[in-house]
Amino acid sequence: MNVFEGWKITSPYGYRSDPFTGSRVFHTGIDLVKYHRFPIPAFVGGVILFAGEGVAGTGFGGYGNVVALRDKKGYVHCYCHLDSVAAQKGQTISKGNIVGYQGTTGRSTGSHLHYEVRSKDTPSYGYGAHVDPGEYLELYCEITDEDVDNMAIKADDWFWKQAYNILGAAYNKGEIEWQWCQKVLDRTLTAGEYTHVLAVINARTQGIDVDAENPAAIPLDQRG
Ligand SMILES: [Zn+2]
Repeated sequence: MNVFEGWKITSPYGYRSDPFTGSRVFHTGIDLVKYHRFPIPAFVGGVILFAGEGVAGTGFGGYGNVVALRDKKGYVHCYCHLDSVAAQKGQTISKGNIVGYQGTTGRSTGSHLHYEVRSKDTPSYGYGAHVDPGEYLELYCEITDEDVDNMAIKADDWFWKQAYNILGAAYNKGEIEWQWCQKVLDRTLTAGEYTHVLAVINARTQGIDVDAENPAAIPLDQRG
């Protein structure tokens, strides 16, 4: 999967010779080119932390006009050297919304987008905590934020409903105490908790009187 399809990559993430000094330095982002003043869509949705000119000491010194956005996983996406910004601090934006226009502001040799992803947002917006942007997008953002939310809800619901059915049947057969059913079904269940419920029921249906509160008390071969 080419996450930067349609972009010309003029400088990858990693070691390179500095275009200004010629010395070997680490390039903390990826340089992408469409054309000057191209409207740049956010690769990932999130909340705008910074939008404006990066001055020394802020974490964006030399980066020109910058838009920085924090995604749901806490990573900061920096769109740098923008001709102008098209977002405001505090704004929530979705993937594909325009954050700014390709430019050459700050320490730049020509119109391009320096796109940088940082693994934290403090101090200085996570300056120095850069990760490979292509790798990040590929590994973590193929599944959208909305997908992650929906999956979490669906998984919790699923385990709860399964547990509800299984516990209800077991209670009706007198295999489990009502108090424990209530305690288990009081909230959503994790996969681990659900496995524990299965193990207890499994043991009880075979006449093994295990302590439902103590997963370690369940014989190994009876665990889910
Ligand atoms: Zn760059």
